[in-house]
Amino acid sequence: MRPPPKRRCRARISRSRLRKRIGAAQSRGDVAAVKRLLRNDDGRCWGWALPNGLCRYHGGLSTGPRTEDGRQASYTARDAGRARYHARVRELVAAGVLDKAPGRPLGSRNRTPEERAAMAREREERRAQRQAMVALNGVRKAHKGRGQQREEAAEMQRRHDVFQTGQPREATGCAIR
Ligand SMILES: [Zn+2]
Repeated sequence: MRPPPKRRCRARISRSRLRKRIGAAQSRGDVAAVKRLLRNDDGRCWGWALPNGLCRYHGGLSTGPRTEDGRQASYTARDAGRARYHARVRELVAAGVLDKAPGRPLGSRNRTPEERAAMAREREERRAQRQAMVALNGVRKAHKGRGQQREEAAEMQRRHDVFQTGQPREATGCAIR
């Protein structure tokens, strides 16, 4: 028997994602990809249709529970899973594997819009400060990784210690002659 002809989903979609992919293809010079994407830029989903005529993003596959029993089973499973998780967390805390349960503290609350705005301002300030530092120190230093910074700090400390104890450098294994 011949397989049924393949259909596309054809659901109406936002074009922004496709536009982004076209831009990316353009900037890497992939002319064939740009042409293909432009051909598909008709505001419709080009995903292959499932047997119901739509793709998995546009109405295919899961409907979730459809009956009252199914809904109840879903909730029961959800609550049971949550209980298992909390039991496990309690176990790990009791065993000392975790020092506390993950997540924010009991009784904490969402930050107010004002608090969030203040935090954003602070972040912006720090960013501006960092940018100023980059301009001052030059790009190379600012782009040093944390590991490298730590290594260099450790090396400086070692040199300091060598100097303080007055030991000959050979005895300490210091690389600096
Ligand atoms: Zn689709």
